Order: sequence, then structure tokens, then C-alpha cells
Amino acid sequence: IPVDAFDIIIFGAAGDLSLRKIIPALFHRWRDSQIPDASRIVGVSRTEMDDEAFRKLVYDSYRKFNPNTEIAAEEWTRFSSLLHYRAVNAADAEADWSDLSALLEQRRDNLRVFYLALPPNIYGAVAANIDSAGLKTPDARIVLEKPIGKDLASARAINDGVGAVFAEKNIFRIDHYLGKETVQNLIVLRFMNSIFEPIWNANAIDHVEITVAESIGCEGRASYYDTAGALRDMVQNHLLQLLCLVAMEPPLNLNSDTVRDEKIKVLKALRPVKLRDIRNISVRGQYASGATDGEVVQSYEAELERGSNTETFVALKANLDNWRWKDVPFYLRTGKRMSGRHSEIVVQFKDVAHSLIKDGAPPPPTRMVIRLQPDEGVKLLLTTKDPGPGGMRLRYVPLNLSYADHFEARYPDAYERLLMAVVRGDLALFMRRDEVEAAWQWVDGILAAWEADETPVHKYPAGTDGPPQAAMLLDRDGREWWAGK
Ligand code: NAP
Repeated sequence: IPVDAFDIIIFGAAGDLSLRKIIPALFHRWRDSQIPDASRIVGVSRTEMDDEAFRKLVYDSYRKFNPNTEIAAEEWTRFSSLLHYRAVNAADAEADWSDLSALLEQRRDNLRVFYLALPPNIYGAVAANIDSAGLKTPDARIVLEKPIGKDLASARAINDGVGAVFAEKNIFRIDHYLGKETVQNLIVLRFMNSIFEPIWNANAIDHVEITVAESIGCEGRASYYDTAGALRDMVQNHLLQLLCLVAMEPPLNLNSDTVRDEKIKVLKALRPVKLRDIRNISVRGQYASGATDGEVVQSYEAELERGSNTETFVALKANLDNWRWKDVPFYLRTGKRMSGRHSEIVVQFKDVAHSLIKDGAPPPPTRMVIRLQPDEGVKLLLTTKDPGPGGMRLRYVPLNLSYADHFEARYPDAYERLLMAVVRGDLALFMRRDEVEAAWQWVDGILAAWEADETPVHKYPAGTDGPPQAAMLLDRDGREWWAGK
């Protein structure tokens, strides 16, 4: 669906996120003729720069991050005419906003999208300054990057600050996982195939695993990361959003509030963590030196250049206190410097009620594996008869839907889809205030219990799947993390 011309004002435009993700995503959408030429991409940060210097910075960064993409010189020249830059200290109410204001006024009819790729503690102040500088048009939108705060109180303060200026329907809180093709497919898979819904519950499902594993370390951001840790950085947003999509009730339709109304019910059903259970339901880890992707890598503390008690890995057992998921654990794990980069959801069904083969091992349980990255796809792992005359030998094989094999089209990066959704005003892929706060409430309970319990951080060699305690978390329940392909 074509959109009208718009202005996107990126605060933090010279930063990593803007140069690596946001502007390349806009370039790709523009190149696919999705962004009208009368649109503008206005970079803002404190560093003084003119339009030309900003265009060069954007080009050089694009080349660095996308070395294999061909761009014709003429194409880049056309695109770069959309790029502008104004230096403003956005957190400073006394700063001179007049240049930025004058630029925006030149196209007063363009929809305005303010994208805050800034440290979150200034979101409220920046929203207020946008308003007092007179930049906010009636339907202007604001996009907030994660993390929305570091706990419930700071999230509320950010939401209050931004909410004092922008109506909730104009606030787009990004969780880029929601823009991923396979994540969107979760809803289609669950609710647009009739076979799943009758068995998607505690009667048939034994447990669910959600893994988001990264092989990278902190990539020069260790001092920021150290103030957050894996629970705040990944679980509060990405993993809980995935859990919501797996666990929610069927929404009435795909309208944004209908879907978000169902997700919030899941977050509210999360069983609060009790101090006495904390070591039975959570494991904290931190990477030591080791090897990933064939390279020797240093420890987290060496990257940080000091000692730290921050977790770079977390594994959790979550329960939902509702009818559908009674006694079905959701095991979540995420970490840096793990054995590989992969994100997947494993839905493990219950064992067969009775094994037909007396002396052999029971057949492995049916599993549905939803692979989010890389090698996107869905597998249903089934027990079949091994073909041949040698009697009833069993074989565990996948029914395999590989995206690479089935779909030829290039599917856009999550940021491309999300940015266009902002321009279209489609909130379905963004987190509502109550979702963010409910997620923090549960996470705050874990953080408080860790502190009171002085829960240890177990070291794991870089390039492994976390400390052995993470395996024990499931072992105690007679289960194992799915480690198959
Ligand atoms: P970054 O590389 O440190 O960039 C931040 C940018 O903000 C810089 O360009 C800085 O430039 C500018 N800035 C800081 N204070 C400002 C102010 N008062 N007024 C105007 N500009 C200001 O950070 P980042 O990695 O891009 O991250 C930005 C936000 O996105 C953070 O909230 C982060 O948590 C979030 N995020 C980042 C990633 C990622 O992959 N990088 C992923 C998810 C979420 P000047 O110094 O010139 O002002």
C-alpha cells in the first residue's frame, strides 16, 4: 500500500543503530519505491555536521555494513537528496531548535515521525522539547527504541514523560523481534490452520522452550551492557513478546489493540517469582574466555576491563497461571557468546500414552520447532517407521518448511517492515504501554529476588550453551533442552 510523503527525524542519527539499521532500512524501502521522493530523512545529534558530511557518513556506513549490495552512483545521489542533518542537543530545552524547525516547516504537510535512537533516560525530556519547539503536528508519531527503562519505575517515568506529549496511539515502542517474518508467521500458523488450536494447550503440550542465542559478545558496548544484563536486555522485551505470541488466546481479528489485549493477558498470567524458588527457576551466567566461530575470544570481564557480576546469559522457567497453560513450563534462555547465533521456539508435545514397542525405548515426543533465525522455517518432528525389511525400527524425521526453499522473494529486514508500519499508523507490531509495564513488573520480581538471594553468576566458556546449571534447570523436571537440528 503506497504511503504519502513523510519526514522521519532521527534523533541519534550519527549513532550505531541509526547508521547500521534505521537508515539502511529506509534506503531499501525507498529503493523498492515504497517511500515517495518528497519524503525526508532528517538526522539529528549534537555533533556539528552539514548535510553533505552526514550524507557521506551515511554512505560510508552503508558500504561498511552492506559490502555486497550493489548501488549505482545515480541511485545513491537520488537517495541522498532525501538526507538532511541538523545539530541539536535534544535533551536541552534551551538549545536552538530553529534550524530544525525551519527545515521541517518547508514541508508542513508531510507526516512527521520522530525516531528516538538515544539513551532512554532522555526520552521524556526530548518529547517535551519537541513539543515546546513547536515541532509536534497533530498526527505526529514518536518511535521509542528499547530498552524502555531499566525497571518498572523508570519505564513508568519514560511512559509518563512521552505520554504527556504524545497520545498512546502515536507512540510506537519498537521490539524488532515483532517485525521478523517468522514471528509474524507464528500468528498465521497458530490461528489460520485448524489443526493446531485444539492441541495448543496443557492437554497436549509438555513444555515450550524459547532460545535466543547470540555468538557475538558486547561489540564495544560492554559498559552500556553492564548496566543492563541479559534479563533486562533480552528477556523483558524479545523473549516475553515471543512467549506472548505462543501462549495468547486467539484474537478476534488482527487489529492492533485486539492482538495487544490478548498479549497483555499472558503477561498478567506470568506467575510472580518467589524468593525461595529463585534458584529453582533461574540461572545466571557470564562468559569466560573461549572460542566462537573458530576464533579465540576474551572473557566478558576482559572486554569490560573490570570485574562484574552482570549476567550475559540467563535461563528461566516461567509458568502461566491460566487455564490453557496449567503446569506447562516455558523455559527461556538467552545469552551472548553462545555456541552459535540462533533463535528458535520449540513446542514439545506430550509422550504417547502407551508405547506399542514393548522392549524398545519409547518414541521421542513430537516437537514443533519454529526457527526465527538463521535458516528461518518450521519443522514438525515426527516418529516414522525406518523404511526397509528389518522390522519396526523407528526414525525421528522432520516435516520441513524451509523459507529459503519455499519462498523466493527477498523478505525485508524487521526494521523495514516496522518503519513502514509506523508511517501507516499500524500499531500491531509495537508494544503498548501496559505490555511494557507488565513485563517489567515480572522482571522486577526476578531482579529483586536475585539481589536478596545473591544469586551467583556461573561462568561459561565462550562458544558454549551457557553454564551447566542451565541444563540442570530442565534436568530437575526430567527434561532436556532440544539440541537437534
Ligand atoms: P550510540 O551509538 O551511542 O548513538 C547514540 C546517538 O545519540 C549518537 O549519535 C549521539 O551523538 C546521539 N545523542 C546522544 N545524546 C544526544 C542528545 N542529547 N541530543 C541529540 N543527540 C544525542 O547508541 P545506539 O547504539 O545507536 O543506540 C541508540 C538507542 O537505541 C539506545 O537507546 C539503545 O539502547 C537502542 N538500541 C540500540 C541497538 C543497537 O544495535 N545499537 C539495538 C537496540 C536498541 P552525539 O554525541 O553527536 O550527540
